[in-house]
Amino acid sequence: MLSRVLARNEPWDILVIGGGATGVGIAVDAASRGYEVLLLEQSDFGKGTSSRSTKLVHGGVRYLEQGNISLVMEALKERGLLRQNAPHLVSDLGFVVPNYEWWEAPFYGIGLKVYNLLAGKYGFGASQILTREETLERLPTIKPEGLRGGVIYFDGQFDDSRLLINLVATAADQGATLLNYARVTALSCGEDGFIDRVAATDVEGGIEFEAFAKVVINAAGPFSDSVRRLADPSAAPMIAPSQGIHLVFDRSFLPGDSAIMVPHTSDGRVMFAIPWHNHTLVGTTDTPITEPTLEPRPFEEEIEFILETASQYLEKAPSRSDVLSVFVGIRPLVKSGNGSNTAALSRDHTILIDSSGLLTIAGGKWTTYRNMAEDCVNQAATLARLQEKPCVTKDLNIHGFHRQAEKFGSLRLYGSDALAIQDLIHSDSSRGEPLHPALPYCGAEVIWATRTEMARTVEDVLARRTRALFLNARAAIEMAPRVAELMAKELERDDAWKAEQIGSFETLAKGYLISDE
Ligand SMILES: Cc1cc2nc3c(=O)[nH]c(=O)nc-3n(C[C@H](O)[C@H](O)[C@H](O)COP(=O)(O)OP(=O)(O)OC[C@H]3O[C@@H](n4cnc5c(N)ncnc54)[C@H](O)[C@@H]3O)c2cc1C
Repeated sequence: MLSRVLARNEPWDILVIGGGATGVGIAVDAASRGYEVLLLEQSDFGKGTSSRSTKLVHGGVRYLEQGNISLVMEALKERGLLRQNAPHLVSDLGFVVPNYEWWEAPFYGIGLKVYNLLAGKYGFGASQILTREETLERLPTIKPEGLRGGVIYFDGQFDDSRLLINLVATAADQGATLLNYARVTALSCGEDGFIDRVAATDVEGGIEFEAFAKVVINAAGPFSDSVRRLADPSAAPMIAPSQGIHLVFDRSFLPGDSAIMVPHTSDGRVMFAIPWHNHTLVGTTDTPITEPTLEPRPFEEEIEFILETASQYLEKAPSRSDVLSVFVGIRPLVKSGNGSNTAALSRDHTILIDSSGLLTIAGGKWTTYRNMAEDCVNQAATLARLQEKPCVTKDLNIHGFHRQAEKFGSLRLYGSDALAIQDLIHSDSSRGEPLHPALPYCGAEVIWATRTEMARTVEDVLARRTRALFLNARAAIEMAPRVAELMAKELERDDAWKAEQIGSFETLAKGYLISDE
């Protein structure tokens, strides 16, 4: 990919900055229309917010309550399209709203019926009022005292960074060129005063290069303002960053197949407890921050708030020592007026074209990435006077598409790629052995990620090709030496590389652990 970029003398039709859901979605859309696309990501694909979500493909029950019907309808439609185009990665999940007050069953029962009606033909199954016994059957660990019953509704669940990696592959299959570890450092204008090139650094090799383009799209998520300032140092900020944390526990805290949805926590937020990859994920928070970073840290109050809320609903209250991993993501919310409460800021996406011709797209959510990309490429094509070409992603299968991926067991998330990983195991059975007793990952997945999924570091494999770091940070640290060994063989690296990789991964992973006090 890098040599393709270095050899090119002509401008790309579209150059995208940022390899999260927004940028990669745009690369898929533009390449599948037939445009020539280059995407540059400063770190690894998904290093930003797109690997740190709540893992829901959802319309957003909360936005319904806020009266944002069009956002909910759009997201419910996209939810259906995503399940259709990536069935190996999106599954249905039942969410139970436990009711402790008499008015909750009719109130949430009606609201969730409307939610399902808005989905129309993209519906995931009718919501239903549950008796106390049915609620306890679905949520065996819920606090029984005062429980009256519940309401169940259905939404989608996914693995965010696995979807992203499969979208990178989809874009590449469609002819796009995508580089991770390629940081954009400058934007420059042509004679007409419009941006026509970017300067970037290949972070691994230290090579600096320039790439020309007919239009440049800024999809840098929470970092959108710093990219805009490369074009105009005085650009007024458009992003109001807000962070959200998740705590991960073992499966015993939520042993059933259903999730818990708490529509109103003590400070008016929504909280989820979700079964995910045989663990329990609880979150999230919404805390305004001043400056986004690539490795945000949780605030103590956020950890306490989640533990406290979980203990109100779960019979066995989780404590600090039960936390296997804590991860933090930053919402790229678009500013509106002077509001200080980020929970009320727009979750719709915004497209802004600066006077330099830089097109910035921010906001939205993972669920709506396809629609955002369609909108953005339409605007970019007009701006760059590209030949008009229709969007084809509504029916475009995502790499790995497979309708019966469950038959691949722990490799199901790879969809049709699972067969090639099984071949790696058949040719050397030691590659099929688990890398850690607490997690299902094996050596063949490391080899696969390094050979075919552009993984360059131990962190890429443990955080975003597999989800070890997000599920169990201590286990991930223990896996690092073996992963470094396997990767070094594939990438022809020496012992110094291995030692550096293991050391820097351990330092990073310690940030996903919390102290017991
Ligand atoms: C806590 C939390 C929970 C969420 N849960 C859900 C959910 O359950 N469902 C849902 O639909 N949505 C959810 N979202 C929203 C969703 O995750 C985000 O909307 C989405 O991931 C944003 O993607 P992005 O590509 O815009 O940003 P990012 O994923 O942050 O990508 C931007 C990328 O730009 C790169 N970049 C920055 N500067 C440069 C540069 N100079 N050169 C090259 N690259 C650069 C960064 O490294 C980064 O990888 C959640 C968000 C948060 C924070």
